This record gives sequence, structure tokens and C-alpha cells, in this order.
Amino acid sequence: MADQQAVTQLLTEAGARAAHYLATLDDRPVQPTRAAIDRLTELGGDLPVATTDPFTVLRLLDEIGSPATVASAGRRFFGFVIGGSLPVTVAANWLTTAWDQNAGLFVASPTAARLEEYALRWLLDLLHLPAEAAGAFVTGTSMAHVTGLAAARHALLWRQGWDAENDGLFGAPPIKVVLSAEAHTTLIKALAIVGFGRNNLIRVPVDNQGRLRIQDLPPLDSSTLLCIQAGNVNSGAFDPVDELCDRARDAGAWAHVDGAFGLWAAVVPELAHLVKGAEKADSWSTDAHKWLNVPYDSGLLFCRDADALRTAMSAPAAYLPQQIAREPSHYTPELSRRARGVEVWAALRHLGRQGVTDLVERCCQYATVFADGLRAAGYEILNDVVLNQVLVSFGTPEVTQRVIKRIQEDGTAWCGGTVWQGRTAMRISVSSWATTGDDIERSLEAMLAAARQEIAGS
Ligand SMILES: *Cc1c(COP(=O)(O)O)cnc(C)c1O
Repeated sequence: MADQQAVTQLLTEAGARAAHYLATLDDRPVQPTRAAIDRLTELGGDLPVATTDPFTVLRLLDEIGSPATVASAGRRFFGFVIGGSLPVTVAANWLTTAWDQNAGLFVASPTAARLEEYALRWLLDLLHLPAEAAGAFVTGTSMAHVTGLAAARHALLWRQGWDAENDGLFGAPPIKVVLSAEAHTTLIKALAIVGFGRNNLIRVPVDNQGRLRIQDLPPLDSSTLLCIQAGNVNSGAFDPVDELCDRARDAGAWAHVDGAFGLWAAVVPELAHLVKGAEKADSWSTDAHKWLNVPYDSGLLFCRDADALRTAMSAPAAYLPQQIAREPSHYTPELSRRARGVEVWAALRHLGRQGVTDLVERCCQYATVFADGLRAAGYEILNDVVLNQVLVSFGTPEVTQRVIKRIQEDGTAWCGGTVWQGRTAMRISVSSWATTGDDIERSLEAMLAAARQEIAGS
């Protein structure tokens, strides 16, 4: 394959296959068929001894792999909180992959390092976060949490005369960790990874929307880590961000915000009140692969105290360059990694401030259309629809589960289920750049038809 013409041909074919995949995505059922999934075994078996030519490998991937994918990049996928990928970000991803840059070091990729810096500055501005905050480009909000919590751990222990990075955690002074009963499972996991311990967390009760009840907040002090949720994964609800940030500040506590998708409310003037005061926190996690609609995997961590983040993350070594510019690996757990900042830059450069605002606003309006339509047909909406999330019950838990199954089997749209405060519900999350008003209408019709058929017993 040293032949340049063959390389060009291969990449052209990959482009054509990818374009065909995307062009036909909305005409196929969202869920792959059983037969398509069964065929995946043809990609397994024993490792071949002989070489297979790259065109055959690509054809296998497309002919067997593509049909067994979930059309989550499509316009009528409302499961979990999954955005699509803006075409410009897919294109940027291909080019970046061809560059094959190691984004961990400025010297290994000035382009990747600089684009991260520019994107970071745009993001802090867009999300109304402090301009002096440092940032890390990681795989998702899970790793953003790990990164941010490691910075918090450093700062909270250093204040108490303990050097966590050099002396470890055994024998360290205690840190009080406060978060709501509705904190996202990845935050609990991150706290466990960083050494806070699942059994050492103070879980504050929540109200009927899943918001932390401020009247139940324990006293905070300068050795407290307070985690605040901006956007509940089920209801979309926000903890009382402003008040919690004030309380943390007054006490000298570290405030960490889980804003995986909710942080983006800041870009829409009518929604910004939901995250008012978030700029007073110390660290913030969010995803780019959700609402910014870049390809997986892409998450972001912002940290007000750049020194705390650098101390927690840097790994000096004689063969690695000293700080000559912003050294990306001084802010992330990884040294070598892909240049995911390029896609973030491309999305922002393409959409502009107005485009990001329109995207977030449109998704939230569509969520309201779903809620209104379902409510008008007599089904119960279990949450206040404040953002892009809708929780609907079609009756008893069994009926709701069977309606979800019918909707998934019909294939027009895809939604998953959940249990919300003891009630079985279907979750709708509108997060894709590609979804149109027509998609909402078609999807709503399909949902109502499935519910009618289920209830009529047909
Ligand atoms: C999705 C989500 C996460 C986890 O993000 P990943 O990108 O999957 O790691 C954490 N918190 C909330 C509120 C989320 O919605």
C-alpha cells in the first residue's frame, strides 16, 4: 500500500461509503435487525495468518458493520443524551485522522495545540465562564470529572498542608464531599476513582424535579467538595446553581459543576437563568459530543485555578519539552492522545455564536412540542420541561414499557426508558443538530400511534 494512488483510492472509497451511510441513515430503522447483529460474527473468528488487502477490509466493515450500527447519528434518535455529528466535524475528523497528530505536546502538533487554545477561549466566552480558567480536552464528561476532581483534591488537601500528588492519600486529612441524591452515576464513579470513596459521600435529598434541596444542605467548610448538577440526565432540571455557588464561596469550599449538556443553557438568553451563577464555581465538566454535535469521543473540563489543574496533571520528564507554550498534556490525564480539539474548533468556527444558540434553542423548543403533543393526547408528562428532556408515562409501568418497545420496533424514532422517582417513564432527549420540525411531527405521530395500539390491545 505504499502506492500513493492506492492510498488516494482507498480514502476516496471510504469517503463514498461514509457519505452513502449518512445519506441513507434516516430511511432505515434506528435499531439494527437481529439478522444484521448476527452477521457480525463474520468479522470474528481466528486471526487470519495472511494479509487482507485494505479494500476488502473496508468492504467488510461497511457491508457487515454498517447495517449493525444504531442510527443514533440520525435525526429521529431521542435516546439517552446523544447528539449527532455536524458534517463539518466529520470532515474535520477525517482530515485530523490523516494528520495523525499526537495532541499531547505542542512540539508534536502546533496545529492541534493552537486550535485547542482558540477553542478553549471561545468556549469560556460562550459558556460565560471565567476567561482565566484552564481547560482540558478529554474523552467525555466521565473523564472531565476525574480530571476536575483531581484538581479539587489537590487544592483542598494543599490548603490543609497535605501534598496529595507526592504523598498520596493514605493518612491525608478528610475531605467532605457533598452532592445530591440525583448526581449522575459517572460522577460517583469519578469520585471513587479519585479516592473519595463511594461510602464517604454526603447525598442531599432532591425535590420532585431532581433538584438538590438547599434547605437540606449540610454546613460547608474550606475542606468541602460540593458537586452541583446543571442538567439532570432524566428531567433536565438544575440544582439551585447560584445559591450553591454562593454558599461554597462563603465557606471556601470547592464547587464542581456537572454540566454535561446543561451547561449549554448559558448560550440561550431565555435559558441562561438556569445556570446563573455557575461562573462562580471552581471547575466545570461538559460534553462536546452531546450538544455541540461533534463525533465521539469529546468532553471538556474547565478549571478556574490553572495551577491546581497543572499540579494534578503534569508529569515532568527530561525528554519532554519544558513549557514553551500551552502544553496540552499538562492539563489532561493522558500524554499521547488524538486531536479532538480540532473538531470542537471546527464546530464553533462553523456555527458561530448564533449557530450554537439556535441549535440549543431549537432542541428545547422541540422538547416542548413533544411534551405538549403527548399531554394533549392524555399522557402524563412527569417533569417540568425546562430544557431538552421529556419524561412521559403512558399508564401503568407495563403499558409504558410495552409502548416504548412498540416505538422502538416501529423504527420511526428511538427513545429509551427509565424509572423516574418510582415511576416508569419513556425518556425523550432532543440533542441533534439534524432534527427538524418535520422529524418531531413524524416521531410524535409514531409515538401516539404506538400508544393507541398498545392501549387498544392490537
Ligand atoms: C452524559 C452525562 C454524563 C457522562 O458523560 P460521558 O460523556 O458519557 O462520560 C455525566 N453527567 C451527566 C449529567 C450526563 O448527562
